[in-house]
Amino acid sequence: SKVRIYQLAKDLGVDNKELVDTLNELDIEAKNHMSTITEEEAETVKELFVDKEPTDEKQEDSEQKLTVVPPVTVGELAEKLEIDSTSIITKLISKGIMASINQNLNEQILSDLASEFDFVIGDESQEDEEDSNEEEKIIEEILKDEPKGDSAERAPIVTVMGHVDHGKTSILDAIRETKSLESEAGGITQHIGASRVVYNDNTIVFLDTPGHEAFTEMRARGAHVTDISILVVAADDGVMPQTVEAINHAKSADVPIIVAINKMDKPEANPDRVKQELTEHNLVSEEWGGDTICVPVSAISKDGIDELLEMVTLVSEMNELQAYPENTGKGTVIEAKLEKGRGPVATVLVEDGSLNVGDAVLCGNTFGNVRAMVSDIGKRINKATPVTPVEILGLEDIPNAGDTFQVVPDEKQARQIAEQKKEKEREEKLRKNQAVSLDNFFEQMQEGEHKELNIILKGDVRGSVEALKESLLKLNDNEYGIKVKVVHAGVGTISESDIMLAVASNAIIIGFNVRPENNAKKAAEQENIDMRMYRVIYEAIEDVKAAMSGLLDPEY
Ligand code: GDP
Repeated sequence: SKVRIYQLAKDLGVDNKELVDTLNELDIEAKNHMSTITEEEAETVKELFVDKEPTDEKQEDSEQKLTVVPPVTVGELAEKLEIDSTSIITKLISKGIMASINQNLNEQILSDLASEFDFVIGDESQEDEEDSNEEEKIIEEILKDEPKGDSAERAPIVTVMGHVDHGKTSILDAIRETKSLESEAGGITQHIGASRVVYNDNTIVFLDTPGHEAFTEMRARGAHVTDISILVVAADDGVMPQTVEAINHAKSADVPIIVAINKMDKPEANPDRVKQELTEHNLVSEEWGGDTICVPVSAISKDGIDELLEMVTLVSEMNELQAYPENTGKGTVIEAKLEKGRGPVATVLVEDGSLNVGDAVLCGNTFGNVRAMVSDIGKRINKATPVTPVEILGLEDIPNAGDTFQVVPDEKQARQIAEQKKEKEREEKLRKNQAVSLDNFFEQMQEGEHKELNIILKGDVRGSVEALKESLLKLNDNEYGIKVKVVHAGVGTISESDIMLAVASNAIIIGFNVRPENNAKKAAEQENIDMRMYRVIYEAIEDVKAAMSGLLDPEY
């Protein structure tokens, strides 16, 4: 029987070419690595290699080859090999793999490419791996979430959303003016990003920055820092584009909505019209048989503010928000800045456990020892229980809004973990490159990552947006078992908040006769969001269909 040369080369662990050359030197005919030789011939040549100590020359040879350590994307590989990325993409296409420049290459594909482009796949040395496994275990142990002690009800965290000028800020001010803690505690409200109010002995925490933009930006970072959203709709203006946005942003985060129908003091106020318009977005008020709580209010006269807070506590009780005050503290960064003479200052919300002055904390990518804490009413405190907004001093660096923080046993470990997290984040960023796109949807779906294609739809006029949405939803009856979900559909240009929603909900964006704003374009590039513009509905539908069946031509 015959032996295939490349198979033999593989068995011997030698280069195809080296083996062919050696065979030729032995006067054994071998055209290339696809040729075959007899078993006897194979035995002869085997002896030459098996006993041969790896020569220096050979070692040098493999050292000369570039080592590529996964994970890498097509673009990164091209850069490393100093070749044009299209030549990799073309190679992949010839193998039937549709890839974009940001695509991560799995090990299988990478090893295919290794022989084509002459590089070797490296992995960090075994030892390193064991080390980091050990470290990871310790970290896991530290970060393990085992509740200590008894649970206690915790205050809800509330975000106010709605269309511009409908009165978000005014309502927040009205609430704080009448109900803030300061009168009781003798402090003065500090603007640190979040504040507590007390209503009938119930504490409610409000995030100071209203709007769904801030909310979704934090969510895009992985924070789930809102329990209830108050949707402000002006009774004289009704449901407007940003009202719809806010509804969809809250829904996509699964946050319950309480509607505040504001400006009831105005003679033109028409709350029924607001309720009517809300039904078009699946928010049906209670009086009309639905389960959406609508409270008529006026931020100016303060009528209805008490009822609004009453509803917040009610919804909060229904959701049974709990925390374990005896746990080690953890929560989310609301905002952070560098202050002259104070260093990095971060406002955090302690959502579980307790945070104490002197605690070592890990905070996003940074860490530190809590040197001092200042509450939302400007008081220095030593201990913060759930849910307290506090400014903390003592961090090494400025974290990001939406980062989580966590108390750890000591600063040394905090430093270690922070460094590891940085590394992880780098990897995460690579992984992010696999954000869903029409190009890779089919591939990811086959790997079981998605059964649902999330879409954000923006168009120039309501009619076309509705038409496109309906046609897309019709694709739901497909043979692939995939669901199309329109996370948000709206009229107008594609904004940065659309991009953030796409990040937070892992969606693609389809624009119909609209363009992205400049900063949205930048954000989309940064976050690697698939954004496609169409002028013909049919083409958009065809592309989505093609993506579902894996037949879409990649875009370069
Ligand atoms: P935001 O953009 O949603 O934060 O809206 P603002 O709170 O800045 O309010 C926009 C405008 O509406 C301001 O001029 C407010 O004085 C006014 N406004 C807010 N609430 C009420 C209200 O209940 N009644 C009346 N008449 N005006 C209000």
